[in-house]
Amino acid sequence: MSLMDQMHQKAMELGIPVDVHLDVTYRCNERCVHCYLDHDDHGEMSKAEIKELLQELADIGVFSVTFSGGEVFMRRDFVDLVEHARRLLFAVRIKTNGVMIRSTKSRSAFIPIAPKFTTPSPSCPGHGSAPSPLFDS
Ligand code: SF4
Repeated sequence: MSLMDQMHQKAMELGIPVDVHLDVTYRCNERCVHCYLDHDDHGEMSKAEIKELLQELADIGVFSVTFSGGEVFMRRDFVDLVEHARRLLFAVRIKTNGVMIRSTKSRSAFIPIAPKFTTPSPSCPGHGSAPSPLFDS
């Protein structure tokens, strides 16, 4: 059984999601005909609320976070959110149409801060000092 299979099996046993998909905005700079969003203003979570949610996800042992929208770079605080997620040692995925990735600050969202955590490892220490519940210690 592969390491990923083992991790998924353990996550199922513990009732922990391996990955959490987080839509951080309904807004988008495009209007694709195939889009399932209505692009109406339904509001969105504040930066503080998302950071609190990320901390809760880290505390229960979630391995990776996928940021999506809408277009994630419509949020001026998006890079801060990615940096916060990386500080919590999540493997981070970003879904974007890429149109707004022009500035150095936007590009910095793609520079891995903790590259050793982009793939699961039995030595992964988890999100804090405690070992991840998804890996046998
Ligand atoms: S880029 Fe994505 S979110 Fe934006 S309109 Fe197109 S499909 Fe929808």
